[in-house]
Amino acid sequence: MASSGKFFVGGNWKCNGTRDSISKLVSDLNSATLESDVDVVVAPPFVYIDQVKNSLSDRIEIAAQNCWTGKGGAFTGEISVEQLKDLGCKWVVLGHSERRHIIGEDDKFIGKKAAYALSEGLGVIACIGELLEEREAGKTFDVCFQQLKAFADAVPSWDNVVIAYEPVWAIGTGKVATPEQAQEVHAAVRDWLNKNVSADVASKTRIIYGGSVNGGNCAELAKQEDIDGFLVGGASLKGPEFATIINSVT
Ligand code: PGA
Repeated sequence: MASSGKFFVGGNWKCNGTRDSISKLVSDLNSATLESDVDVVVAPPFVYIDQVKNSLSDRIEIAAQNCWTGKGGAFTGEISVEQLKDLGCKWVVLGHSERRHIIGEDDKFIGKKAAYALSEGLGVIACIGELLEEREAGKTFDVCFQQLKAFADAVPSWDNVVIAYEPVWAIGTGKVATPEQAQEVHAAVRDWLNKNVSADVASKTRIIYGGSVNGGNCAELAKQEDIDGFLVGGASLKGPEFATIINSVT
């Protein structure tokens, strides 16, 4: 890792789980031995955040998978940052490709959420990443930089931001980026921060990789200079495997 921050591993549970399966996952995580020098965060579905907060060891922080753009009120179906903080959340995942490409969220809307969440003290896991056709058309950097710029234009400070590079073609597909492919984009993202934000932000900001990370491929990825951790979907639903990924820090 090239960032001066701690290795950071997030588990994105997405729209999975029941009270029972989550109770089992929490108990597996509570009994796992985790490297002490790693920041660990899990993002349960909203409806289970309270259950997880009340049963999971404080060693692991809680993230929400989304939030509203401002204070709560007459916004049917939305969840406010204040409500997330009330439940003990410390982070929120924003700009995930499933929200961009399935739900239709755009850069401006995502930026607004990021600005508000940070202003209220939540950390933001800011996701960026290209589609397969964009990679094949040689547009990987253009797409990532455009999404990054939207965050940069919106956020008041980078102190509480972790960038997650998640190539869309690697998410949930079992087709992980090679360590070289991931490293190339991570290095470019760090360089972009250096040129467009500051050298200080470039060196402090953690850039984590997401997309089919599992217990078998995490160690090679973790060795790459600019990979400062992972955002894990499917494999984070299995406690022992998630622990292996956390412990892959080099
Ligand atoms: P995956 O998901 O690990 O299942 O590919 C990663 C993510 O969407 O954050």
